[in-house]
Amino acid sequence: MREKGIFEKIVDREIPANIVLENDEFMAFHDIAPKAPIHVLIIPKKWVKDFNGVNADLMGKMSEFILQLVDTLEVRESGYRLVTNIGTDGGQEVPHLHFHLLAKRKLEANFG
Ligand code: 5GP
Repeated sequence: MREKGIFEKIVDREIPANIVLENDEFMAFHDIAPKAPIHVLIIPKKWVKDFNGVNADLMGKMSEFILQLVDTLEVRESGYRLVTNIGTDGGQEVPHLHFHLLAKRKLEANFG
């Protein structure tokens, strides 16, 4: 059986996180090592390994949740970057689907 991952422990309140927004299916919390003044991670509470595991239903609901987060953070006008890393070449460290939302600084167009 797969061991419970770090983000599932955050969902279950077994390890602390600075939560920005949540509902029954999704959670958004501040990244522990922020790369911008705002760096929030968005996850589905139910484990999905990465973007390869999504479907239209999940992405539809997750997109609505992310847009709600965008308004909560008040970055709709100033802009932001949404990124999801997949697998080894994508640089994914935590195997639980998540989007990074980065905002409040001018980000380079460098995906190195
Ligand atoms: P990945 O490289 O998988 O796309 O991103 C994983 C992200 O999770 C990294 O930006 C890392 O800083 C963040 N992270 C790892 N462990 C924790 C944790 O325990 N709490 C929080 N809030 N973020 C974490």
